[in-house]
Amino acid sequence: MPSRILNGNAIRDQIYTELAGEIAALTSAGIRPGLAAVLVGENPASKIYVSSKIAASEKLGLASINVTPPVTISTGELLAIIEDLNRRDEVDSILVQLPLPPQIDAKKILEAVDHAKDVDGFHPLNVGRLVAGRPNLVACTPLGVMEILRRSEIEIEGANAVVLGRSDIVGKPMALLLMHANATVTVCHSKTRDLPETVRRADIVVAAMGRAAMVTPDYIQRGATVIDVGINRITDPAQAEKLFASSPERVASFRAKGSAVVGDVHPDVANIAGALTPVPGGVGPLTIAMLMSNTVRAAHLRRGSRISAVARN
Ligand code: NAP
Repeated sequence: MPSRILNGNAIRDQIYTELAGEIAALTSAGIRPGLAAVLVGENPASKIYVSSKIAASEKLGLASINVTPPVTISTGELLAIIEDLNRRDEVDSILVQLPLPPQIDAKKILEAVDHAKDVDGFHPLNVGRLVAGRPNLVACTPLGVMEILRRSEIEIEGANAVVLGRSDIVGKPMALLLMHANATVTVCHSKTRDLPETVRRADIVVAAMGRAAMVTPDYIQRGATVIDVGINRITDPAQAEKLFASSPERVASFRAKGSAVVGDVHPDVANIAGALTPVPGGVGPLTIAMLMSNTVRAAHLRRGSRISAVARN
C-alpha cells in the first residue's frame, strides 16, 4: 500500500489561518508584529528565500522590514545594523539570511541578535533553553517537523526516532524536540556505522543530511513515518531518469527545466513507509510558517504585557 502523503502546504495553510486571526487581534490591540530580514549581497538563492519570507509576512499582515547591505559590508558595519534593529521597538524578530560573505564573522553576528528577537532560535541562550526543556524561540525547520507530526497525529511518545544529521540548524534541535516529546532518539551522522540497520529500527525517521535520495527502501521499517528535510538540486539526466522511473511527469519536468529538486529520501520509500513528506511541498512550507509563528510568539513574549495593558484601558 502506498504511503500516506503528509502535505506540508495544507498544514501551512491551516497554520496561516490561525496566525492571521492572532495577528489581526494583536494589531487591533495596537501591536503589529514586525519581522526584519537582513540580506547581505546578491546571492540568488538567498534573494528567493528572503522574498518568499517577506511575501508570507505581508500576506499575514505582519510588518516587514528588508535590510539589504552590499556584499562588501564589514562585520562592524553589519553589527551596527543588528544593534539598530535590536533597539527598534516595532521589530519583533530579526532574520539574518545565511550564508554570509566570507569576511563576516557569522557567529558574532548571530550572537549579536537580541535573544528575544532571535526568530531562528540560533542564539546560545535560546539553544540552552531548548536543551533545558524550557524552549523560547526554537529553530524553524525542526519546529515545522513537529507541527507536521502532531497535526498528522503521528504518535511520538515512546516511538523510536532516528534523526539523520546533527547540524545546529536542523539535526540537533530536531533530536531535542523529539526527546522532549518523549521519543527515544538516535542521532546519526557521517561516522555512524551500519546506517541502514540503525535507521530500520525507527518508527519515525527525520532525514536532514543534504544527500540526494540516499535513504532507500532498505533503510526503512515497513509502516514507519519518514520526514524528508533534504533539499538537493539534481542536474544529471541519468540520475533523474533512474530516480523518477515510476513518475513520468517528474521526468518530463526535469527535461523541461534541466534540473529537479529532490529530498534525502528515495522516491521508492513511498512503497514501504506508512507516512511520508514529499519534496517539494513537505517540510519546506512549514519552515516559513514557523518563521511567521515565531515572530508572533516573539511579539507576545516581548510586548505581551503591553497588550494586557491595552485591553485593560
Ligand atoms: P549540514 O549542516 O550540511 O549537516 C548535514 C548533516 O548530515 C551532518 O551532521 C552530516 O554529518 C550528516 N551527513 C552528511 N552525509 C552523511 C552521510 N552520508 N551519512 C550520514 N550522515 C551524513 O546540513 P543542514 O543545514 O542540516 O541541512 C540538511 C539538509 O536539509 C540540506 O539538504 C538542506 O538544504 C536541508 N534543509 C531544508 C530546510 C527546509 O526548510 N526544508 C531547512 C534547512 C535545511 P557530520 O556531522 O558527521 O558531517
